[in-house]
Amino acid sequence: MVHWSPFVVSFKKRYPWVQLTGHAGSFQAGEYGKLLKKYCECEQLCLQELMGDVLRPFVPGYYGVVQQDEQDYNLMDDLLADFDSPSIMDCKMGSRTYLEEELVKARERPRLRKDMYEKMVAVDPCAPSEEEHSQQAVLKPRYMQWRETLSSTATLGFRIEGIKKADGTCNTNFKKTKDQEQVMKALEDFVDGNMQILRTYLQRLEELRSVLETSEFFRTHEVVGSSLLFVHDASGQARVWMIDFGKTVPLPPPLTLDHRTPWQEGNREDGYMWGLDNLIHIFSAMLPS
Ligand code: ATP
Ligand code: MG
Ligand code: MG
Repeated sequence: MVHWSPFVVSFKKRYPWVQLTGHAGSFQAGEYGKLLKKYCECEQLCLQELMGDVLRPFVPGYYGVVQQDEQDYNLMDDLLADFDSPSIMDCKMGSRTYLEEELVKARERPRLRKDMYEKMVAVDPCAPSEEEHSQQAVLKPRYMQWRETLSSTATLGFRIEGIKKADGTCNTNFKKTKDQEQVMKALEDFVDGNMQILRTYLQRLEELRSVLETSEFFRTHEVVGSSLLFVHDASGQARVWMIDFGKTVPLPPPLTLDHRTPWQEGNREDGYMWGLDNLIHIFSAMLPS
């Protein structure tokens, strides 16, 4: 096509943006190819620092804080912009999804929680101890830790939060997807059995892992509740990015993490790399060798 005008024109078509998980209303469409996410200082600081880190190609580009209707937002790249009818998967990384400081806070004023007991019983009537049954209540830290054992978070160091496929089907009901076989089934369905897409994802994950190994940002942060966003489309393009830094916090120097050492309260380890190792192992195991 011949361009006569000196102006850059985008011929890309508009598409309906998809938010897989998280709170409704947290996001607004920005100008083309950009996205507004409700402001969170923690996320701002991380994205800012990430723009100068080796991880930059693996996170959405960040453009600072903007205001719209009196609400502050972090402005970032929309990672779906270069895809046509993308299939999307959100994988929450790490062996725990609460910060150590949240656990400490939950313990400060220990109150017995009836609501949490009820949520527990609704999922698994056998989960509460005899004492908890007789109190008809549980303590919040206990509930937080129990919740992680439902999904693959505690056993594999990641969990699938949601999958939306190009055909429009959407599944966010993976709370009890725990075993490797269940995860494989979900992944297989996500790529519609397309081994080439799976192979490309595996390559991307391996690249990400090697960059994480050298990242100053990664060494010096507790990364909790952050996700890998997987995106592919019929063209065969398949990419992975790190998103959601609302609970990623700097460690007090000189503390650093390897993200593989098992968590013991106080060591701040988050199991992120352990989860990524497991994810890579699962992708590899699904491919014919
Ligand atoms: P939560 O903390 O409950 O996980 P949140 O409000 O912090 O949610 P995110 O996890 O950052 O929100 O994002 C929710 C969803 O929005 C993701 O699963 C993904 O589908 C979409 N999303 C987030 N950031 C981007 C991005 N930069 N580009 C495209 N899609 C995105
Ligand atoms: Mg999230
Ligand atoms: Mg979040």
